[in-house]
Amino acid sequence: MIGGLAASALPLRSGRMRVDPLVTGERINSHLTALSEFGKNPQGGVSRVAYSDFDRAGRTAVMDWMRAAKLEPTIDFAGNIIARRPGTDPSLKPILFGSHIDSVPEGGNYDGDVGSLAAIEVAQTFAEHSVTTRHPLEIVVWQNEEGGLYGSRAVSGQLLPSELKNVSSSGKTIEQGIAFIGGDVSKLDQVKRKKGDIAGYFELHIEQGGNLDTGKIDIGVVEGIVGIKQWEVTVTGFQNHAGTTAMDQRHDALLSTARFVEMVNRVVRSIPGRQVGTVGRIQAFPGAPNVIPGKVICTLELRDLDDKKVETMYAKILKEATAIGAQNGTQFAYVELHANVAAPSDPRMRKIIADSAAGLGLSSRGMPSGAGHDAQAMAQLGPMGMIFIPSIGGISHSPKEFSRPKDIVNGANVLLQAVLRADRALS
Ligand SMILES: [Zn+2]
Repeated sequence: MIGGLAASALPLRSGRMRVDPLVTGERINSHLTALSEFGKNPQGGVSRVAYSDFDRAGRTAVMDWMRAAKLEPTIDFAGNIIARRPGTDPSLKPILFGSHIDSVPEGGNYDGDVGSLAAIEVAQTFAEHSVTTRHPLEIVVWQNEEGGLYGSRAVSGQLLPSELKNVSSSGKTIEQGIAFIGGDVSKLDQVKRKKGDIAGYFELHIEQGGNLDTGKIDIGVVEGIVGIKQWEVTVTGFQNHAGTTAMDQRHDALLSTARFVEMVNRVVRSIPGRQVGTVGRIQAFPGAPNVIPGKVICTLELRDLDDKKVETMYAKILKEATAIGAQNGTQFAYVELHANVAAPSDPRMRKIIADSAAGLGLSSRGMPSGAGHDAQAMAQLGPMGMIFIPSIGGISHSPKEFSRPKDIVNGANVLLQAVLRADRALS
């Protein structure tokens, strides 16, 4: 029970009020502290990369907590931990909720962990209060989220066989890693689900940005996960002597790149909205103090909830870059590195989350997710909703990542409410 917070009450047909239970705040926070021991590092965070010994040990602890919540966890062929709680209507598809417990190297104690442990806490609260749902519920802990949503993409059918040879942060290939945590890649096809196979998916997560903390808002209602496009940009000029080539005779690829970096920032900021654009890597060739750079390789990354806006920005950047090149006889060429389409959340799920927060007396605000999540894979299969809680100072993927215990309890209660409301509302 959190201070001043009443359980959400809804009038029943009998005239009595239905009072939904609240999660046990001390328990979820003590589980969070216990999980932070697996892969704990001296900086105060964790290095629990997927397929490491720490990851496997943390998963074992999580499955023990699931059993304490009257669940029977299983490991699917992709290595995801899934526990099913039966519903009263066998004709209905399951409502899924959960997150991940793997971390980036030198990560924090909240990214993924909050949503995974809150999902278990919700199931335990249901068990303790004998809550039965119409839909079957599936509590999930996805494997290797940080390496590229491997577990959830195996389920959504987006994982390519060639990706199994990729080497993960643990040093193991994805294939070896899945075997290490109890999966079986030879049967990966069997975990695939298709559109309509799930009634809905919820994920509670830390914001990983500073909007909720700055705005003193309790809950973020995620409007969607942004689409990401990345390009490698090659700028070609003419390599020449830095002492003997007059300033007006130069085809300096690095000078054009400098103008390009400034232009990208200007173009992205010139349109209203929350889109972002970044030049994150740059290398000049041959890279000597006394040589005018003949070639530069840099990157361009654009993100927005609206894939069309990304294309519009890219087209503007292309046009302006050509003009920049024309100033000093240099050329720009682009190779697409990576594309991830935007995954909007479902409007019904957004309303369910906002109503759940309001019913608990919590403030909420709609916002995009600038980071990727397993929820974007689940959005391929059915209605998806994501709940954010504040990240203090907007810090994440760092040992300094922090969310207040009361915010974690708030998030878990919103998740509980959202699951119950979705159970009533969704077919
Ligand atoms: Zn995460």
